[in-house]
Formats: sequence, structure tokens, C-alpha cells
Amino acid sequence: QWIYLDGQYVKKEDAKVSVYDHGFLYGDGVFEGIRMYDGNVFRLEEHVDRLYDSAKSIMLNIEVSKEEMSNIIIETLKMNKLENAYIRVVISRGVGNLGLDPFTCSHPQIIVIAEQLALFPKALYDTGIEIVTVASRRNRADVLSPKVKSLNYLNNILVKIEANLAGVSEALMLNDQGYVAEGSADNIFIVKKGKILTPPGYVGALEGITRNAIIEIAQKSGYEMKEEVFTRHDVYTADEVFLTGTAAEVIAVVKVDGRVIGDGKPGECTNKLLQQFRDTVTQDGRK
Ligand code: PLP
Repeated sequence: QWIYLDGQYVKKEDAKVSVYDHGFLYGDGVFEGIRMYDGNVFRLEEHVDRLYDSAKSIMLNIEVSKEEMSNIIIETLKMNKLENAYIRVVISRGVGNLGLDPFTCSHPQIIVIAEQLALFPKALYDTGIEIVTVASRRNRADVLSPKVKSLNYLNNILVKIEANLAGVSEALMLNDQGYVAEGSADNIFIVKKGKILTPPGYVGALEGITRNAIIEIAQKSGYEMKEEVFTRHDVYTADEVFLTGTAAEVIAVVKVDGRVIGDGKPGECTNKLLQQFRDTVTQDGRK
């Protein structure tokens, strides 16, 4: 396996970064998760745009152009002879002094890892998953915008720990006001009486690229689709609930905090959107 590391392709065993890298010392950096389906990189441009926006927001200057970044990603996939893959792009602040000051860092490191990945076992897409809401809250947009996919994912990791302790694989985060925000690394949708809702970005959700693809698919399919603020009550009483994310794709949620959603099986709307999403991902991408 070949990893792109700071201008070179190196073997997995040799892909090492310095202990003085501020990405390691302080979580100072940004990242992206991207998927390739049957040789198509799904919405590469949108992922690269989001990466550069995250970087700009934290004053991290990525020293290659967006076009060059896209080429590095494509090349890494080719080097590893992958047709279906999960791609992790990491831009860390780079090697610097022990102090917090990012301006001591020589230059940002670019790392691209591509490998095969399945987040949830296949069977769970047929049965749906159980989730719980957790005590960890999504940080407020005026602290560090949830739009920044930063290397500091501790909050999301705490969510994952709480989920694991509860014996489930994913959990729901509320924002500081108690409104539903998102999962640890996925967005949430609910369906009630044929109407599909997902929280708006300002509630604290990342504007997921899968989320945006699902909004487009739902609108094209004639569903009433709205970005709306909602509470746990609305989730518990929804006809259908599902999560979306680059790793998770579209996965039905059939139980939330012990409440069975609908009839306890993935609903019609979720299944339809999942099918259309799967049809889209193999076409809507860059070869
Ligand atoms: N929310 C968070 C916090 C995430 O890290 C992710 C993953 O990228 C998502 C939502 C889903 O976004 P996307 O569909 O772009 O992967």
C-alpha cells in the first residue's frame, strides 16, 4: 500500500510523521473523507472545496492548488490499484516548536491514504441500526465552526465512546440548546408523513456532502424536503430515521433511545433514497 506523504509516495510501513508535527501535538489541521465507487471518485470537487474552506478558516495555507490536490488523490488511488475505496486526506500544520504557535511550523504536511473500507457490516443496511442520544454536545458555531473538519475530533470520539458503552454503533449529538445536530460522523434525516427533514447547518451539523446529495435526490424524486430545526421528540415520533455520511452512506435507524421507529424496519422512503444514492455514486464522479 502506497501513501502520499509530503510530496512523495511511500510504503505504508514507512509513512511516519514527526512527534513535533502540530497535527499530532495539538490536533492542528484539517481532513476529508472521500469515497471511490467502481472507479468514480464521488463528488471530488466538493470534498476538495470543503478541505480548502476548512484550511482557510484556521489560516492553514495548503501549498498546492485544488487541481493538484485532486490529481494527488487520483494518483494515490491509481498507485494502489483501487476501484472501490475510502480516501483520507489529512493536512496538518506541520513540524514546529513545542508551543501552540502555528507560525513556528515550517510547512503543512499533506497526507493521502486510500484503502478499502466498510464502516457497517452489509447486513445492517437491511436491518437498520439502533442509536442513542449522548451527553456530549455539538460545539457552538461561534467557538469553532462545525463546518471546519478539523483534526480535533475529541468531541466526536467522546460520542463514539458513549455509543460503545451503550452497546450501539452510533449516537446522536444535540447542540447546546438541545436541538438535534448530527451523529459522530454522519448527518441525520427524519421522515414524517412523507416530509423529509434534516437540521440546518447552523444547528451545528456539518454540511455533509452525502447529506447534500440526498437532499438533491429527495427533491428530484418529488419528496417534500426541508432543512428544519427539530428535537428528540420529533426523532422518536418519526415514521423513518436515517443517517448519511461518506463512510456510513445511507443507513436506516430503527431504534432511538429505546423507542422503536415506525415498524422497526428500514422504511420505504429510506430504502428508495438508498437505492437512488447507490445508482448515483457510480455515475456522479470523477474517473
Ligand atoms: N458530520 C460529521 C461530524 C462528519 O465528520 C461527517 C463526515 O465527514 C459527516 C457529518 C458526514 O459528512 P459527509 O457526507 O460529507 O461525509
